[in-house]
Amino acid sequence: MSRYWSDFVASLQPYTPGEQPQIDNLVKLNTNENPYGPSPRVLEAMQALLNEDLRLYPAPNSDRLKSTIAKHFKLDSCQVFVGNGSDEVLAHVFNGFFRQSEPILFPDISYSFYPVFCQLYGIDYRQVALADDFSLRLTDYLQPNGGIIFPNPNSPTGRLVPLDEIRLLLDQNSDSVVVVDEAYIDFGGVSALSLIDDYDNLLVVHTLSKARSLAGMRIGYALGAKALIEGLDRIKNSFNSYPLGHLQVAAAVASFEDVDYFNDICHRVVKARGALIESLEGLDFMVLPSAANFVFVSHTQCDAAQLSIQLRERGVLVRHFQQPRIANFLRITVGSVQQNAFLLGLLKETLAEL
Ligand SMILES: *Cc1c(COP(=O)(O)O)cnc(C)c1O
Repeated sequence: MSRYWSDFVASLQPYTPGEQPQIDNLVKLNTNENPYGPSPRVLEAMQALLNEDLRLYPAPNSDRLKSTIAKHFKLDSCQVFVGNGSDEVLAHVFNGFFRQSEPILFPDISYSFYPVFCQLYGIDYRQVALADDFSLRLTDYLQPNGGIIFPNPNSPTGRLVPLDEIRLLLDQNSDSVVVVDEAYIDFGGVSALSLIDDYDNLLVVHTLSKARSLAGMRIGYALGAKALIEGLDRIKNSFNSYPLGHLQVAAAVASFEDVDYFNDICHRVVKARGALIESLEGLDFMVLPSAANFVFVSHTQCDAAQLSIQLRERGVLVRHFQQPRIANFLRITVGSVQQNAFLLGLLKETLAEL
């Protein structure tokens, strides 16, 4: 608290990210980073830019990256918006589309940045309860709203909404913007991207932080109808007209160009997820179905908060949310084969002691 803060600043409750400890040898399975590094071609592309040209401002609209993304998804550049991580893209989305008279809708158990953006921009919201099995029923969203947003697959549950249900929602909700936050879509989901040309109120948001192993570079983008993208550009150009630096653009472009590497690491994570789920079930964990690079689990006997503390003491970080309905769950990122084996070994030890 400071006397220089406005009442508004004093009232904010900022987002709490998962821990990024500056300690070596911790196995980080708490923030859904990729266990594999970015493509070597990404590193080469960035190294090639470490020269005096960094004195120059980057292209204001990141046109090179926009056209790379557009080409990758067979869209037009005018259907692509880019920003510093999808968190920044989402901030512009909330600011640009969700300041409406009706409350916006999102799931009660979901990405915890959404209510933070609402508070920042003074947006009224209603949290729609997930079903008892933590599935997201889009039929519950057929009510007056100023916008709808949900992650697909959802976080922290990992559950996926099928495309036909998204289509049904769009058919019956044409007056407000529907945002599908697809941070984890590359680990086994079907993207809503194919619906963009049919629905001018659909916005799909992606990040390079998860499947593309570039969380440290902060790159995200949104895909949607030209008019929606123009709306986002108006916000962006009223806030920060040069959002992506030279290195970000080069890294992102190289990542999209190395299709084989991307497919390979996604495949490895998905395969490791299957093995991890099987082993966790063998240790009496209840595991929700996951289409993401993490699993959401609850033990039949053991308290989740206790377990996360014990794991941390032994060198593994997982995410525990002190929140109604999910206080006895842990979200565990799928690591490399070695990391998962280490986790499972520790769990066996810990459970045997309890
Ligand atoms: C990780 C994540 C993001 C943020 O990604 P960045 O691009 O790193 O900002 C957005 N939405 C969801 C659901 C996420 O899990």
